[in-house]
Amino acid sequence: SELQASASGGRVRVAVDTPQHSGLTGPLDYLSEQALAPGSLIRVPLGKRELMGIVWPGESDQATAAELLRPILGVLEGLPPLSARWCELIEFAAGYYQRSVGELALSVLPPQLRELDGTQLQLRLKRVAKWAAEQAARTPDAAPVLPTLSAAQTEALARLDGLLRQAGAEAAPPPLLLYGVTGSGKTEVYLRAAEHALAQGRQVLVLVPEINLTPQLEARFAERFAGVATVSLHSALTPAQRLRNWLAAHLGQARLVLGTRLAVFASLPQLGLVVVDEEHDPSYKQQDGARYSARDLAVYRARLEKVPVILGSATPSLESWHNANEGRYQRLALPARIGGAALPRVRLFDMKTLPVKKGVMTALTAPLLQALRERLARGEQSLVFLNRRGYAPVLHCGECQWKSDCPHCSAWRVFHKADRTLRCHHCGFSERVPSACPTCGNLDIAPLGRGTERLEEQLAEALPGARIARIDADTTKLKGELEAQLGAVHAGEVDILVGTQMITKGHDFRRIGFVAAVNPDGALFSSDFRAPERLFALLMQAAGRAGRDAEAATLGPSEMWVQTWHPEHALYQALARHDFEAFAKNQLAERAGAGLPPYSHLALLRAEARDAAVAKAFLDAAAAWAEAQPEAQQQQMLIYPPVPMSIARVANVERVQMLVEAGSRAALQRLLRLWLPELGALKREHKGLMRWAVDVDPLAI
Ligand code: ADP
Ligand code: ZN
Ligand code: ZN
Repeated sequence: SELQASASGGRVRVAVDTPQHSGLTGPLDYLSEQALAPGSLIRVPLGKRELMGIVWPGESDQATAAELLRPILGVLEGLPPLSARWCELIEFAAGYYQRSVGELALSVLPPQLRELDGTQLQLRLKRVAKWAAEQAARTPDAAPVLPTLSAAQTEALARLDGLLRQAGAEAAPPPLLLYGVTGSGKTEVYLRAAEHALAQGRQVLVLVPEINLTPQLEARFAERFAGVATVSLHSALTPAQRLRNWLAAHLGQARLVLGTRLAVFASLPQLGLVVVDEEHDPSYKQQDGARYSARDLAVYRARLEKVPVILGSATPSLESWHNANEGRYQRLALPARIGGAALPRVRLFDMKTLPVKKGVMTALTAPLLQALRERLARGEQSLVFLNRRGYAPVLHCGECQWKSDCPHCSAWRVFHKADRTLRCHHCGFSERVPSACPTCGNLDIAPLGRGTERLEEQLAEALPGARIARIDADTTKLKGELEAQLGAVHAGEVDILVGTQMITKGHDFRRIGFVAAVNPDGALFSSDFRAPERLFALLMQAAGRAGRDAEAATLGPSEMWVQTWHPEHALYQALARHDFEAFAKNQLAERAGAGLPPYSHLALLRAEARDAAVAKAFLDAAAAWAEAQPEAQQQQMLIYPPVPMSIARVANVERVQMLVEAGSRAALQRLLRLWLPELGALKREHKGLMRWAVDVDPLAI
């Protein structure tokens, strides 16, 4: 059928990587003497360059006369064409996130593939074939022990089986929202569902938010599916690994693909099941270029392929939760932890009850230290979580009030004690810590506030003899460091683990009985309407690290300690009851009242210039244009006035943004399609405007 669909020589439509705003947004026409199947990789000329392109399905919509078209330069022989559904996924994503088809299509292929010639490709294909033999010969160390499923797991799987059997039928199965706390057995459901799809001869795609943080998930799949060729796809691979893994998936040799958000675009000709673990995680949203949501695209892709998709989470995104409430998704709940392990008791420690010491704001309160000492005495591990790395967020002079601001950004430079630097986390500008105040010469400049580095130091002082380890972006820069540190925790070589949100995600710690969040209040008062949702998920996830193993006899009752000035806040009250449903209900009511997602649809237009006034003028002009459109008027869209981003200046560039809110997703899409070509023209009228970009369904406002 691939061949029947191909053009019979002559004009071919080719997706090439044209820059977003060049005006060339669709595939381009070329001439080919031989018939080419859609999805074939070819080389074409563009201007003076020679590029890789993809023969694109569909009829040409260009009017260029045939004699003006340039001939293609060659075909990458030996590679099966990309499937029509893959092309359809790309076309949808490009349209939805407002990028050109060619740019997106080429950018999601492994970079090395774009450079290969035929001979090199043959060599790679041989290597992949060799690897797939080897993989099939992998035998388990021991036959995997399959646990007897709980009633809730059995029911979830029965539903999934039903959907898997229907795969490819007339209607696409509804997405499944697998809702269950940490330790409730979600991963076991993924494993069984994968097993069934594999047994049907289908490929399985499993997305995880950050593969570096989830080596255990990889290990669990590898352990369960010893003879199944498995590859991972994420940005930490070398270019050669990425090409090999991509090819293995494309050729159907890899049966199981584990990956981060970019893997949603993997070529999987026999896809039978998609799993999105921790579906609420913000890392599924790409934050530059094509700002796609891999979670949303996974749902779209599953619908396109008519295969089941499982979205798993203990704290689903409010979008997914709302979809389940509305019946668009099927909700499957795993209501209890496996083996009856209790969820940790949540203790909301009221900071107002502390004796007031003037000017001293302590994170290590005496009661917290006491709780840590008790766990230490019992030989249990504890986890202390603070979402701020470095020693202190700012250095300060008490004489003249100088603060360590960044000369290039509207942000403080963070004090890092280990290498005695002041480092800007936004532009990277770094200097040695001055020995005296740069303005008044005062020798007594002091850190203000606290990051993980300082917390670690203070814990070590307060708890002599305790073995303390810290995990954050600073301690895990080098390859292998994170694994080594996690290994030490698992081996029981660490008593207290200090860290940022890196330590709250996914790790299957067995011996942690106590988790403390020392300063989480900030998110309660953020201007970002999603901040409470993220905080709740983070705290639930942190709590999930404690008491995972009901059988670990040494563990006393597990506890989550939350230090707050607002223990009465509804968010904390729901957390104390582990009541996501109450939290979600409350938040959704607020969102409905304020007309925020999921009750409306947003796009964010951002502009950058050296001069904030230039960026603002551009956005004002853009708003004026859009407001005059019947589409915007009839649909009562709201175009908010442009405002500086929360960190307005980064690396001497001023950043301004403008929010567009629409009741109808389709109407917003129609407006954007009209609007974006205008913005390209408008940019030229605003001298000094450096960049603009649109973010559809933005996560952080
Ligand atoms: P989640 O993904 O929801 O955190 P897991 O699937 O990892 O939960 O399950 C938690 C633990 O319980 C794991 O160690 C897993 O092997 C084990 N487990 C899962 N399902 C069962 C079961 N039905 N019987 C016994 N143990 C199970
Ligand atoms: Zn000073
Ligand atoms: Zn800076």
